[in-house]
Amino acid sequence: MTDNVSQEEFPQPDPALWGPVKKGPVGKFFAPVAGFGVTLTSMFRKVVTEQYPEQRVPTAPRYHGRHQLNRYADGLERCIGCELCAWACPADAILVEAASNTPEAQYSPGERYGRVYQINYLRCIFCGYCIQACPTRALTMTNDFELAGPTRESLIYEKQDLLAPMGAQMLAAPHPMVEGTTDANYYRGEITGPTQGQVAWVAEKRPEDPTLAQAAQAAQASSERSA
Ligand code: SF4
Repeated sequence: MTDNVSQEEFPQPDPALWGPVKKGPVGKFFAPVAGFGVTLTSMFRKVVTEQYPEQRVPTAPRYHGRHQLNRYADGLERCIGCELCAWACPADAILVEAASNTPEAQYSPGERYGRVYQINYLRCIFCGYCIQACPTRALTMTNDFELAGPTRESLIYEKQDLLAPMGAQMLAAPHPMVEGTTDANYYRGEITGPTQGQVAWVAEKRPEDPTLAQAAQAAQASSERSA
């Protein structure tokens, strides 16, 4: 009785579905060489093997690769040390420690900056939740996928490994914000480059700064345009 009920409720599939394939006379005739059919058809297909690393095939434009900490056009860092990226990370791969900006050491617009910033690439799963959580677009992902190293420590990237390279006209932080602006002006994208006031401040505090010469030219050109 119990067997009848289970047979009705859960009918068994047709055994022909998983049994051996029954071949006709033609199938039996070609059976010994049938495996070569796959080989022969593959010989005339387009080769898709990539000769990496000799040839580097570009990734998709939105590929999730190594992270980058971006800067504003005047050289201040975008990261404000809010830790939202670290909280959003499902793999607990990001460590951020913020510190206060001071008049003598202003690294980002506003009150705070990311003093310590680490991403552990042994944990990161490249999901991109961190870049979605970032309120200032400080954190983005590049197309760089070559993330390998000989030691575990070398795969924990520090802030200096992640910071974007200085643009041609940027002035290296720390330096004051553009005169008369607040962090809101930075967030709205209203800062287009260093000003002469910022250049003068860096020239006084760090006259050897390598970014000074080009930033001074950019500030000069900008003030002439707006005059
Ligand atoms: S990268 Fe963005 S989310 Fe992460 S601490 Fe900096 S500002 Fe906040």
